[in-house]
Amino acid sequence: MVVSAALLLETASQTHDSLTWVTHSGEVTQTANATLQHLQQAESGQRGFTLTRNPEFGEAVQTELAAAQRAANELMIRTADNPAQNARAAHIRTLVSQRVNELEGNARLARAGDFSGAQASVATGRGRYLMQMVDARVDDFLNEESALAAQRTHLVERRVSQSRWLVLVATPVMIVFIVYMAVALIRRIRTPVDRMMAVMERLGSGERNARIDGAMNSDEFERLANGLNAMAGELEHAVADQIDSEERLRIANLELSENSEVLRERGEVIELLGGMAHRMQAARTDEELASIIRVFVPRVLPEIPGALYAHNNSRNLLVPIAAWGGLEVASAGFAPDQCWALRRGQSHFVVEPGSDIVCAHAVHGNDAAHHYHCEPLLAGGEVIGVLYLRGVVGAENRFRLTVLTENIASALVNHRLQRGLREQTIRDPLTGLFNRRYMEETLALEIARASRSKSPLSLVMCDVDHFKRFNDEFGHDAGDAVLQAVAAEMRGRFRDGDVICRFGGEEFTIIAPGTSARTLAHRVEIVRQGIGELMVQQGGRTLGSLTMSFGIATWEEAMERDGSTLIKAADAALYRAKREGRNRVILDARSEALPDTQPEI
Ligand code: GH3
Ligand code: MG
Ligand code: MG
Repeated sequence: MVVSAALLLETASQTHDSLTWVTHSGEVTQTANATLQHLQQAESGQRGFTLTRNPEFGEAVQTELAAAQRAANELMIRTADNPAQNARAAHIRTLVSQRVNELEGNARLARAGDFSGAQASVATGRGRYLMQMVDARVDDFLNEESALAAQRTHLVERRVSQSRWLVLVATPVMIVFIVYMAVALIRRIRTPVDRMMAVMERLGSGERNARIDGAMNSDEFERLANGLNAMAGELEHAVADQIDSEERLRIANLELSENSEVLRERGEVIELLGGMAHRMQAARTDEELASIIRVFVPRVLPEIPGALYAHNNSRNLLVPIAAWGGLEVASAGFAPDQCWALRRGQSHFVVEPGSDIVCAHAVHGNDAAHHYHCEPLLAGGEVIGVLYLRGVVGAENRFRLTVLTENIASALVNHRLQRGLREQTIRDPLTGLFNRRYMEETLALEIARASRSKSPLSLVMCDVDHFKRFNDEFGHDAGDAVLQAVAAEMRGRFRDGDVICRFGGEEFTIIAPGTSARTLAHRVEIVRQGIGELMVQQGGRTLGSLTMSFGIATWEEAMERDGSTLIKAADAALYRAKREGRNRVILDARSEALPDTQPEI
């Protein structure tokens, strides 16, 4: 564009120069023509003056001659730049000067009135000759100037044409160049922008590893691409981190919900077992305990049949307390060494045949239990019992089993302690028989029951004959041994349900529900005989035989319901027996009259 502009400027300048020269030629031509015209005007003026002798013509000749000379001088000046033309102009000026002198001479003659002289001078033909010379020189000059003007005009036209061509060529070239530049620029921008856009779209559509590869052709785009790649990298990391966090969160949530489910379930089990423990603590009898276990254990370990055995210290046997889930167990129980759980003091289970040794108590006939679980119940290293489960206790039930075992063990210990304490309060420590307090409580209860059911109730009061002698003769310990022997004899002779008590000293009371005095008398007679046959040993010596006296009475509606009248009646019968010679059974008179009950088996 600069070159084109420079060329255009140059051409314009040259055109201007050429035009100046053309104009100059025109001025030169005009000056040359003016010189000739003034001269011709002066000549025709001279002629007129000569012919008419009018002085006005003479003045006009002077003016024209002066103008012709001025024009000839001007022509000299105007052609100063062209030596050849200048030489011609000089020649013309000389000729013009000569002609002017000629004409001035003539004019002077005419003005002086010498018209004939003037005519004679004209007639010489010198003037015409000079004029022809001027004409010829001016013609030459004009021809030369005309050629110069034509040359210069041609130059102008060439310059104008050059300019036109320059414009015609430069404009499309510039347009093409500008278009090319624009296209190149657009390409240079669009290609990397397109690549970046494509990568951004891929990133946007979730393709996190999309990156701009390769060179970008420019520093700016290279930096942009690097920035974009770095951003995508950060994004990928962030998204990966986020996914990772979400996954960890999901797992944590899952674990949390699982844990909360486990905790909730454990809470339920603990609550359930708490209820069971509470009821077991309040249980008075073994049967109540068994009922509670039968209800609660299947709720804690559903679908697993089982049985609970409690350790009987005195017999060293595991006796079944309760069974559930349709399991039948031998009531005889088993010895502790028949159970591997008790032997080892830890859980023993068989999950498939032959996987472990089978406990002897789990074998029924020739059939061994293929799947079972024995959980020992221990407290302070002491065997309390064993929980036997017919089935496999899965890992999910281990917690339940553990808590259940602990609860049952502590409940059994508690129950045993309570029973022991209760036994202490109701038993006589020397003989193991019920004490007087228990006898009186039980008697009141049995009277109420007998009264309700209209069944008979009898009471035996008995006393060792001359017991004092044993003490006196063999010492107090010997007396105790006699009392223990008597108690054992009576315990073995009276039937279940009869309540045998030590009333105090060497006196005993037997409450016999459902029996009349007369029917009871037969059994008491057998007891009397049995005692008579006792040979009590103490300290390696035989204490000699002993006898007992018995008084029997039966309760009647008329008697006090607290049993005091009945006791008195039996005591009166006993007193009679003593009085009548001891070692005998005496029935209360009123009781003897009552109807007999069914003979006892
Ligand atoms: P009877 O035939 O009239 O019943 O004469 P008895 O000697 O059996 O009667 P008594 O009531 O005079 O004597 C009872 C004695 O029993 C008095 C007491 O020292 C003794 N005794 C009471 N309780 C115990 C005891 O727990 N152990 C021993 N060794 N002696 C006792
Ligand atoms: Mg006595
Ligand atoms: Mg006595």
